[in-house]
Formats: sequence, structure tokens, C-alpha cells
Amino acid sequence: MLSVTFLGTSAARPTVERNVSALALERDGETLMFECGEGTQRQMMRYGVGFALSEIFFTHFHADHFLGVIGLIRTLGLQGREEPMRLYGPRGAKQVLAQAISLGVERVPFKVEIEEVKAGDVIGEGGTGKREGYCIHVFATEHGGGSVGYAVREHERHGRFDPEKARAAGVPEGPLWGRLQRAEAVTLPDGRTVAPEGIVGAKRPGRLVVITGDTRPCASVVDASHGADLLIHEATFGEEEKERAKETGHSTAKEAAQVALAAQARRLVLSHVSARYSISADELVKEAREVFRETVVARDGMVVEVPFGDA
Ligand SMILES: [Zn+2]
Ligand SMILES: [Zn+2]
Repeated sequence: MLSVTFLGTSAARPTVERNVSALALERDGETLMFECGEGTQRQMMRYGVGFALSEIFFTHFHADHFLGVIGLIRTLGLQGREEPMRLYGPRGAKQVLAQAISLGVERVPFKVEIEEVKAGDVIGEGGTGKREGYCIHVFATEHGGGSVGYAVREHERHGRFDPEKARAAGVPEGPLWGRLQRAEAVTLPDGRTVAPEGIVGAKRPGRLVVITGDTRPCASVVDASHGADLLIHEATFGEEEKERAKETGHSTAKEAAQVALAAQARRLVLSHVSARYSISADELVKEAREVFRETVVARDGMVVEVPFGDA
């Protein structure tokens, strides 16, 4: 199972309908959080995202992306949490997040580790934190101040196992099947060796989910999103404000769609929309779909399941 729950989809400030940025990615019982705008903890309760998470990833340190960590950490402390929490963010993370966590008079009763990342880093490859079956690639975005995005990339999976063919080759059901499934050759009780080829198909790609955070449309996002099963791209503005998007380091819905098209992504979800689209983002959807059909605009509480490409 891999799904994304949008906890906040508004740019810059909350509105009645939308909170500021945050999303939870849930995979095989693990929850990763990306951004943590003010009020995120309440959104988690509202939309059923558990508090047993141990990592939050920040794309940059504009207030609408991180102020929620102050309250969330306090609540976790009140709940008696003991497990460490790890926070990731670009240059400046150590300073900004350490301040946020030490604000106020309460002591945080668990360990908070802050790790600075930069474009090109791969989190979970020989690095910190338990991570099974995937890693997180950090890529550059164009929003100033060393802003980054995150690509959650699952490892390749073994090919499809054909039990009929295994039986036909005389391999008895049991541990030998498991080894064939892992693409290993097996030796049968009669001394014959059976290779996995023909019984197990070609390796299958894992899933790729890309979270851009705030950014202009740019080549590094296209590269990081190549073949993405789900691209979550900011779309603060519509076409009529494309100059403003350029000036403020943001994207229009159409620009985000062009990125999805260039990256040959499977699906695009737009988020971080300006307050003027808070109630209806139909205009953004329309503009984006003229370029890339498989587009929706996120709303708070929306859950997007990400199936395997070959499912
Ligand atoms: Zn923002
Ligand atoms: Zn920003």
C-alpha cells in the first residue's frame, strides 16, 4: 500500500477551506510527513493520520511550510513520546528548526535530530534511518535559498513468479519457490539445476512519488520526476498571474502540467494554491488539463492511492 493524504493545500496562508502545506505519505505501515505548516497536527487528527511518525521532510523555510512543527513536537511530548524524531531540510535547517523546537519553556522529552540535505543526496542508502524497499532522492528546486524537493523511489521488485511453470520444471512447492522468486537458481533433490529465467519474469519497477514544494517549473524537477507514478507539483497561480508566478518563484497550473508532460509522469496533483482558488480551483484544473490530462487539484483531506504501474 502506498498513499498520500493531503493535510494542507493552501499557499502562504490558511483559508477557511484549506490549511497551509503538509502531506503524509503512508507506505507499508510507515508514515513520512512532508512539510508541516501551522495547524498541521489538527489536520492529522481530522483526516486520520497517526502521530506515530518519525520523520518530517522540509523543502524550504518559508513560514507556511514549517511553523506547525512547533506545536506538533509539543503535543508529541505531552503524549509521552520517547522515540527520536528526525527532521530533514535544506541548508539552514539546523538553525531554523532548532529555534522552532526550543521555543517556549517546555522541554522536549525526546530526541530531535536535524539533518541538512542538498540536491543529489540520497536518503536511506547507507545513510541514516531504517528504510526498507525505497530511498528518497533530494533534488534542486527553483525557489531560492537552496530549496529542494523529494523523490520517494521504491527499489525494483522481483519479476512475476509463474507457479505453473515452476511445477512443470519439477520444482516442488516450498522454500525452493521462494529462492526462484528472488531470481536465484535452485538445485533440485535429483541434482538438476533450474534457473529462474522463464519461470520468473523481468524485474518490475517500483513506484515513484515526487513532491516539489514551492518552485518555478525547472529541468531538475523534470529529471527527478521522469516516469513518476505521482507528481505533486505546486501551482500557486493561474495563467492570468503568470508574471507574478515568475516574480515570486512559483508556478502556474499550466507550467506544472508542462513539467508533468515533459517528465512523462503518470499523474499530476496540483497543490499550494493561492487563496483566490481556495473555494474553486476549476480554472487551474482546466488550464492544466489542456496540457496534461491526468491532473487534479488537491484539497485538504484528499487521499491519493498510488498503485504499481503494472497493476
Ligand atoms: Zn509556500
Ligand atoms: Zn515558499
